[in-house]
Amino acid sequence: MARRDRDSNPYVVNELVESEHRAGVDLAWIVAFGVALCVLAIAFTLPDQLLERAETIKPLNVNGVISLLVVVPLGASAFAIRRYRDAVGAQRELTRLSLHDALTGLPNRRHLRAVLASAFSHAWRNNTKAAVFFIDLDGFKGVNDTYGHEVGDQLMVAVGARLRHSCGTDRWVARYAGDEFVIVDAAQQTPEHSRRFAGEIVSLIEQPFALGEDRISISASVGLAFADVTSDPDDVLRDADAAMYEAKNGDDRTATYNESMRARLTPATAERRLQEALVKGEFKLLYQPIVSLRNSQIVGVEALLRWDDPTRGIVTPADFLPALEDTGLIVPVGRSVFREGCRQARRWAEMTPDGQTPLRVTMNVSPRQIVQVDFAEDLGSALAESGADPSLLYLELTEASLISDPRATWSALENVRDLGIGLALDDFGTGFSSLTHLRSFDFELLKIDGSYLSTLGSDGKDDAIVRHVFSLARALGIATVAEGISESPQIGLLIELGCELGQGFHFAEPQPATIIDNLVQKRLGPESQAPKESATSDSDEEATVLLPNLRRSPIG
Ligand code: C2E
Ligand code: MG
Ligand code: MG
Repeated sequence: MARRDRDSNPYVVNELVESEHRAGVDLAWIVAFGVALCVLAIAFTLPDQLLERAETIKPLNVNGVISLLVVVPLGASAFAIRRYRDAVGAQRELTRLSLHDALTGLPNRRHLRAVLASAFSHAWRNNTKAAVFFIDLDGFKGVNDTYGHEVGDQLMVAVGARLRHSCGTDRWVARYAGDEFVIVDAAQQTPEHSRRFAGEIVSLIEQPFALGEDRISISASVGLAFADVTSDPDDVLRDADAAMYEAKNGDDRTATYNESMRARLTPATAERRLQEALVKGEFKLLYQPIVSLRNSQIVGVEALLRWDDPTRGIVTPADFLPALEDTGLIVPVGRSVFREGCRQARRWAEMTPDGQTPLRVTMNVSPRQIVQVDFAEDLGSALAESGADPSLLYLELTEASLISDPRATWSALENVRDLGIGLALDDFGTGFSSLTHLRSFDFELLKIDGSYLSTLGSDGKDDAIVRHVFSLARALGIATVAEGISESPQIGLLIELGCELGQGFHFAEPQPATIIDNLVQKRLGPESQAPKESATSDSDEEATVLLPNLRRSPIG
């Protein structure tokens, strides 16, 4: 198998060659040792024996001694050689197994890494660039679900065989993971030639596969990236993978990598990149003011996560939160959100002029975080470390958190309440919108999703529902926040419908903590915070006065 690979592989894998080379050198040493032993025996021992006992030993015995002295070391060497050959064989087999995928027999991801580097230099020697094709089968999971895993496995083997056949002797194919394959071509003529080949792969996979009595049709998406001798194999794979994701949205199912795709987090790269971001402290918090609708005074802030990615700049949660949740990294990142949120709450409380109420700080949590056994413990440690007053803190959670694992969530939230931290129901109106949750989980804050605002004032029935929600919340002693306020006319309507607090770009975009510092220090005295009737009509100017220049975040 190893030999067949080397014959069909234009870029020799050093690891395999090195292990065979090492084995050969070791073998040569053993043979040399055996021969040397014989020579030594004959050169030194035998003459002495002959001299001393020549007269007493019969010729037959002399021959016997000579044979013994030659045969024993040679026999021992032969035995050692045989043992060694077995060991080398086993070692080769182990190396082969570790470099090949057990199902398809194709080289695996580890093998691929070694090949890529040598393919890049091979291309460089031929004055060209290497082309790397990242191939993902579309709908493979559906095949497993419909036909069972056995047929799924057969299909995978058949796809691997088809790809290997398409590669001929110039290209090389590996199974990367699951339903992903990578083809390396260090002999590509032109980029156009490679793009054509990407299209050929798509057509090739689209030909139905005959498996037993079934004819199965699937498709593939192919991402293409080019590399030269300076390229890092991991970077090129990431680029080809990003292009493959782009290809999934395109008509011809192929795409060539370009810089604009760098931003994309793909399942293959997400975990490594997010882990790095966590270690390097690239996750930051911005704070969006929550204001009183009557006078636009800031009463609190919502902590919102950002990824300060060195290659892309500031990235918003929509682009990384799903991956953070899928990989479970939301748990350690969430811990740092708690620590930083609590720390800032304490700082702002200390900065608050006498006679004023300190800012409330709300922090978001995902369902995946809440059900962790040590969730409340982590929160408790962050609170204790910071010395913040728990009554200034709220956790924002959506209805999805309440229903995904009610038992675990219930007990976690009880622990949160025991810490003295309040609960806010986030994005109300986008999920089940069940008001019973408000009571049963003792929420103190209800955040109405911004999507409600679009029809506000234009649909009497919608207005009636919103009014009902606000009045019910008030009856239960729950404060209401309207999210996503982007225009001043919405404010008057919201106040009229019974909402007290608001948040949105109209007032301020999410801001760095230092900007919030200024707001805390420059807040007007309590007497000037009295509700102003005029604010209900058109608070645009007033908001500008109270939250100066915050419509756009300096970095958000
Ligand atoms: P959310 O909790 O509903 O946060 C409000 C989102 O609305 C924020 O988006 C905010 O920037 C945006 N927003 C505020 N005002 C306006 C407006 O006037 N117009 C529009 N179009 N948008 C507005 P962001 O920061 O991108 O956060 C998105 C979501 O990510 C958050 O929605 C929250 O569910 C989640 N998230 C943010 N930070 C964290 C965190 O630290 N942990 C967890 N688990 N989730 C977080
Ligand atoms: Mg929120
Ligand atoms: Mg929200």
